[in-house]
Amino acid sequence: MWIADRVARIRPSGVRRIFDLARTVKDPVDLSIGEPDFDVPEALKEEAIRSIHMGFNKYTPSGGIPELRAKVLQYLRTKGIICEDVIITPGVTGGLLLAFMVTLNPGDEVIIPDPYFVLYEYQVLLLGGKPVFFDTYPDFKLREEELRAAVSPRTKVILINSPNNPTGTVYSRAELEMVAAVATEKNLLVFSDDIYDRFVFDGPPGYFGTLYNNTLTFGGFSKNWGMTGWRIGFVAGPKEIIDSMVTMQQYTFSAVNSVAQKAALPALDYNTDSLIEDYRKKRDLIYEGISDKYRVVKPKGAYYIFPEAPGGDGDAFVERAIKSKLFIIPGSVFSLKKSHVRISFAASLSAIQRGIGILRDLA
Ligand code: PLP
Repeated sequence: MWIADRVARIRPSGVRRIFDLARTVKDPVDLSIGEPDFDVPEALKEEAIRSIHMGFNKYTPSGGIPELRAKVLQYLRTKGIICEDVIITPGVTGGLLLAFMVTLNPGDEVIIPDPYFVLYEYQVLLLGGKPVFFDTYPDFKLREEELRAAVSPRTKVILINSPNNPTGTVYSRAELEMVAAVATEKNLLVFSDDIYDRFVFDGPPGYFGTLYNNTLTFGGFSKNWGMTGWRIGFVAGPKEIIDSMVTMQQYTFSAVNSVAQKAALPALDYNTDSLIEDYRKKRDLIYEGISDKYRVVKPKGAYYIFPEAPGGDGDAFVERAIKSKLFIIPGSVFSLKKSHVRISFAASLSAIQRGIGILRDLA
């Protein structure tokens, strides 16, 4: 009787359910994880500790500390990303919520390629918006006819995520240009979630924000520098939108953790090539380990592989996998379809090897 109606629009994340289950099984092979298995680099930890000792422990400005805002803007502009301003947010999660809060009126539609990161759907629903999905199976490419069919007079935003969670897809320049052409023609905003931008294994990521003015670029420190628990990210784009987000942040999150902002400054200069090279090897290991037994697209980025489940029922397959102590996520958590499963290779080489063994037995 105390709970507001909006709570009925959401349900607990299916990913969390698997995490909880994983905790109860002895010696599982956990390939369900959505965060890097490396720790925050030592130099960044030292910077955080130093800032605590220096007394940098109070509220910071709602938009973020000026030196970090300036540095992120410069960092994005050297990549050619068009952005007038930037806000520092509590992760991309917080950034997305603020962005939806300041752009969506009830009934406004957000177009999202399916499969998709779960949070998009629920944040849009919470704010009274309508997620509209378009299909990218079986190769997870963006097709113009599918995108155009999803556009309506109520469309406000197209949301893309590359490198992609859960498929590992990195969109080509042609796909990004196609989205930019549709957005220009229909005068839409584009939200580009680039949180996995350093996790690319076969060439540069290709930033959507280089192509179209009315873009919000979402980036973060959680994945590239293993700082998931520090809750820090950023959103860059048109000044009018960023200004509204700063005001909204005053009344929601207040500001971002002071210490994490200090550690984020050297993070942007920190070379992550060797960390990413390790992940390329993990990608190759799992792809080569299962591709003769499963129908699967080779992921080009992030740290997920998204094969079709034997028999085409990902939910049933995950139950079989759990019985063999392997934790993976049913594709239905990320999609209107349930044919696939998400396997994370953000794990040790030995866990990936054990996982491959179980997956081969189950095929
Ligand atoms: N966007 C995508 C595609 C993700 O996979 C995740 C985390 O899994 C996030 C955003 C959330 O990131 P953050 O930790 O910055 O809130």
